[in-house]
Amino acid sequence: MKYLQVRAKDPKIIEKGENGGAVTTILKSLLDSKKVDGVLNISKGNNLYDGIPTYTTDSSKLIDTAGSLHCAPTMISDIIARYLKEEIIAVTTKPCDAMAIDEIIKRVGIDRDNVYMIGLNCGGTVRPAVAEEMIRLFYELDPEDIVSEEINKGKFIVELKDGSEKSIKMDDLEDEGYGRRENCQRCELKIPRKADIACGNWGSSKGYTFVEINTPRGEEIVQYAIDNEYIEVKKPSEKQLVIRSKIEQVMKKMAKRTQKKYLETEFTKEEKEDILNRCIKCFRCRDVCPVCNCVTCSMEKEEFKEHPSQKPDPLLMHGIRLGHMAFSCINCGQCDDACPMEIPVSRLFQNVQLKYTKDTGYVSGVSENKPPMYSGEKEKIIEGE
Ligand code: FAD
Ligand code: SF4
Repeated sequence: MKYLQVRAKDPKIIEKGENGGAVTTILKSLLDSKKVDGVLNISKGNNLYDGIPTYTTDSSKLIDTAGSLHCAPTMISDIIARYLKEEIIAVTTKPCDAMAIDEIIKRVGIDRDNVYMIGLNCGGTVRPAVAEEMIRLFYELDPEDIVSEEINKGKFIVELKDGSEKSIKMDDLEDEGYGRRENCQRCELKIPRKADIACGNWGSSKGYTFVEINTPRGEEIVQYAIDNEYIEVKKPSEKQLVIRSKIEQVMKKMAKRTQKKYLETEFTKEEKEDILNRCIKCFRCRDVCPVCNCVTCSMEKEEFKEHPSQKPDPLLMHGIRLGHMAFSCINCGQCDDACPMEIPVSRLFQNVQLKYTKDTGYVSGVSENKPPMYSGEKEKIIEGE
């Protein structure tokens, strides 16, 4: 039982779920059975473009979190490392969430046994502000009139209140500097196989989620939900398996092409200095990094400051960050989104990470049982360790 098509048995969850509500129902079965203390996932905030991390211990509330928010690049791994380390939880993970959790596990910040990872395939996210702007500009629609959005067959598709749809090719949007975030365009991992199960719609029948089972615990989770009448399942056909695999390969090829475009043109030393000297040392890139969770940040240490009241020089500061984090960089792009000076932080980091991969074979968030090369206080990643 490696691949299954799954949907909820509860019609209310089917209606609210993205593709049949398999994920919501499996989360519910985990909470009801007390296999987990709580569920960490994302719920809709003010509108479709606003994803809020949500922790719930009440399974009747999970229906409020059903549905996929493709314009919510929100990440949740650091919430686990900081606040939920002692709990046994289930968490929904896009590939970047799964990779970040994996890197924190290797840095001894999360215990894998405490985390049930319910993976979501992901072709990429769109920045919330960019999504709203492109809907106004290219679709000539009010973003508030959109009831759902999805990326399917290479198009960004929006659905209006009256049920009508409008779609534009992602390539056309991306050529104009819109569409998916640049780091998502470069990301090769579309199916999170480090998660216990990976769920998505590629290749699936309408109204079902295609589930790939990756671990013995994943198998146990799904079997429990079948035996206890939470979900119904059917086997995918050979053709559906081929379709899913082909889409994955095409997406990977596209990512490689984008990596070439953005990463193979090396910055000169002077260009790097120019870019980094724009830095105002606000530390937002550090604070949003989902993998970086040290108790005492090296950058706060007195010896790196020219004067006790000052922050370190930008080149030194980014040198420290690159030395400490580049090998674990999972290219999630949170730093790019947060930087007020529009410094392409993740591009610099991924450049180093890919060179390291070439030299050592280590792929951040993917390689098995092999810690990354890094410096810093690996035993003291989070308070109390
Ligand atoms: P539901 O029962 O509706 O549950 C969805 C769960 O996802 C909920 O628990 C919700 O809290 C959580 N969630 C919603 N938004 C996010 C988010 N941004 N980050 C983390 N968790 C979230 N599948 C593909 O096959 N190809 C794709 O290209 C693809 N892209 C995706 C991009 C994004 C950003 C997301 C969130 C999902 C994507 N998926 C993709 C997965 C797909 O949209 C469905 O989530 C999946 O099929 C499960 O459907 P469901 O009805 O079982 O989920
Ligand atoms: Fe510098 Fe940008 Fe990081 Fe702020 S977010 S410290 S400006 S690189």
